[in-house]
Amino acid sequence: MAPAQNLVSSKHVAVIGAGASGLIAARELHREGHTVVVFEREKQVGGLWIYSPKSESDPLGLDPTRPIVHSSVYESLRTNLPRECMGFRDFPFVPCVDDFSRDSRRYPSHREVLAYLQDFAREFKIEEMVRFETEVVRVEPVDGKWRVRSKNSDDLSEEEMVRFDAVVVCSGHYTEPYVAHIPGIKSWPGKQIHSHNYRVPGPFKNEVVVVIGNFASGADISRDVAKVAKEVHVASRGSEASTYEKLSVPTNNLWIHSEIETACDDGSIVFKNGKAVHADTVVYCTGYKYKFPFLETNGYMSIDDNRVEPLYKHVFPPALAPGLSFVGLPGMGIQFVMFEIQSKWVAAVLSGRVTLPAPEKMMEDLIASYAMLEALGIPKRYTHKLGKIQSNYLDWVAEECGCQPVEPWRTQQVDRGYERLVSNPENYRDEWDDDDLIKEAYEDFASKKLISFLPSYFPKSGR
Ligand code: FAD
Repeated sequence: MAPAQNLVSSKHVAVIGAGASGLIAARELHREGHTVVVFEREKQVGGLWIYSPKSESDPLGLDPTRPIVHSSVYESLRTNLPRECMGFRDFPFVPCVDDFSRDSRRYPSHREVLAYLQDFAREFKIEEMVRFETEVVRVEPVDGKWRVRSKNSDDLSEEEMVRFDAVVVCSGHYTEPYVAHIPGIKSWPGKQIHSHNYRVPGPFKNEVVVVIGNFASGADISRDVAKVAKEVHVASRGSEASTYEKLSVPTNNLWIHSEIETACDDGSIVFKNGKAVHADTVVYCTGYKYKFPFLETNGYMSIDDNRVEPLYKHVFPPALAPGLSFVGLPGMGIQFVMFEIQSKWVAAVLSGRVTLPAPEKMMEDLIASYAMLEALGIPKRYTHKLGKIQSNYLDWVAEECGCQPVEPWRTQQVDRGYERLVSNPENYRDEWDDDDLIKEAYEDFASKKLISFLPSYFPKSGR
């Protein structure tokens, strides 16, 4: 990695987290000529993709003092996006067909994503920058610098304090459960668990289970649980109030309903469609909350109704920029490439190659964007959910830092993939109709000399 020729200034930068966003942030910062220290609580790189059979002691994650298990990955998890569009742009996530220990499927298991991230870290020598088993406990601005306090797990009583020119927060946002409110749930006698703490279906054997949420995790977990449960009932907020349908799954025990009306003290759950089931467990697949427990901004930043504010283009808090930045906040859609483009922007702003507008201008832009959300009737809690506007957002950031816009085939793969997920949640990972987009992706990789030959077929099954 050669530093940029047109480097203006090199900064000493702390990156918090060595998941996908921290790894690419470290690489881009280093490429730009900055010195980088990555702090990582775990023993290895990979973040969310490090599966742990352990889950947290509090199944709903409500106790703020509970020991944290970072990953929300369940044993059966396969990616919810095709691998071609997932990988970083100059390190494509292509199958290692000659290595039988790897998963060559187009939608591989979580282990394959971890292996890919490990390969990436090795290729770009990122591990050399990482301080493993070191948790950042406080980050605060002090005299124009950023003071980072950390604890090594070998010696928890010892805290270390180091000053950096800048801090890039890459700590992830799929660890703090958002638990949807159900009227009457306080006196409902059954068990409750959030998907963050779901690992395997075994504990639900012969139970009647209600799963709340019907997108990627809800669709997966309800089908996983249905393999052993007596009945599984999915409450789907997006569905009409009259929705009640038995789904065609091999176990013949899965129903979809409208959202829940109430939970009752006799153990029943009543849906808005008027149906009631006597349930043993409720599984919340209702998403996550942003949380940065280590961050002290003297009241400048806050999280209100899951909006992290103020944050210009989801990356820079105007008055604290560019010393503090966030990579990876917007959820859904293309993730790794978004981390890559945001990281390039942060690196370029820190070196002075690219300048940010004045803080007042950034605030004006933010206020206008909040007003736009309100006018469109988009709730505050969806501020960082970009949905269909993600590609415009990424093109804007890419232009700002002088990198190529996102390849259209990537966005098309995501859109077609999500359409399949909704229309065919059972088999969307193994039955697809976008071979044209796969071919386009591989031709793109070949034209950029990222792969040495065009594969003659694309594996449809794997381990
Ligand atoms: P993480 O991977 O969570 O990494 C954050 C890192 O920060 C962790 O290693 C953590 O230990 C560390 N950390 C946190 N706090 C501290 C601290 N105080 N001190 C030191 N270290 C700290 N995306 C896709 O592209 N495709 C998919 O198929 C897909 N499937 C998903 C399935 C599930 C169930 C979930 C929840 C998400 C999925 N995603 C998927 C989104 C996924 O989160 C991102 O792709 C990405 O892996 C997130 O990377 P990250 O680096 O932002 O966060």
